Amino acid sequence: MAESVNVYEALNWASSFLSDRSDARQIAMRLLQYETGWSQATLMAEMRSPLLESAWQSFQANIQEVASGRPVQHITGEESFFGRTFHVNEHVLIPRPETEELVQGVIERVQAMGAKRPLDMVDIGTGSGVIAITLALELSQCNVTGTDLSQSALHVAKHNARQLDATVSFRQGDLLTPIKESGHFVDVVVSNPPYIPFAERDDLAVHVKDHEPNQALFAEEDGLRCYRQLAEGLPELLNRTGFIALEIGDGQGKQVQSLFQKAFPDRTVNIENDLNGRERMVFVEPLSQ
Ligand code: GLN
Repeated sequence: MAESVNVYEALNWASSFLSDRSDARQIAMRLLQYETGWSQATLMAEMRSPLLESAWQSFQANIQEVASGRPVQHITGEESFFGRTFHVNEHVLIPRPETEELVQGVIERVQAMGAKRPLDMVDIGTGSGVIAITLALELSQCNVTGTDLSQSALHVAKHNARQLDATVSFRQGDLLTPIKESGHFVDVVVSNPPYIPFAERDDLAVHVKDHEPNQALFAEEDGLRCYRQLAEGLPELLNRTGFIALEIGDGQGKQVQSLFQKAFPDRTVNIENDLNGRERMVFVEPLSQ
């Protein structure tokens, strides 16, 4: 019988199997944790412990899947966001760390508003629900709604809200349609819409372009279609004291800013960078008094 493989050897094998990925070691660690059920700290302490033959076999198969382009999050079924674990699958965008910065921006602004009544907040294109659920949990004074065109995405979002004990109303529909139907003004609009131009499809990694929902990634009009529609419809739906927070792609700042400045001439429209120094957010806010 073959010698058993220890944790350390399994990690090294996987790192060289995935040598074209800069995140090879993190992926290997994640999949070993998934296989063993150990925390990262335990895994580090158990570097010389043998793996069960069944765990080694399954780990190898999973690493091969990742090498062929399958996102590691589709194997483990989860991704963390803002310190919580969310279920993800092929029907939703896998949350990115940059989106945590958008959520942080919303939290800070809501706290600064010091509202005397519960604010009505909507996350447009909620996907797995990470934005809506995080905001509902962090800002208990807000009524949060999440909308999405995709029923399958809403199914995932509802599951996540239940698991995390968050109170969020979910509505199905395209962009602003569910808000228009509700007949209510909103105080805060957050969205991470699809914004990648179709022309950039070939530049994306296989694990993104072939495994994440195209509907959540790509948009017409050079990636600007959703922003244009939001800028068109939101002036009739946003309360005077409210604000809009949008995720954008690098290089889209000026165009998105100009769309919203035209739609909201008496507000400030600011572009903010993410921690990597890339244009990532646009905030449309009342002029400070
Ligand atoms: N940030 C994502 C990516 O680069 C795109 C998300 C989006 O289009 N909203 O893959």
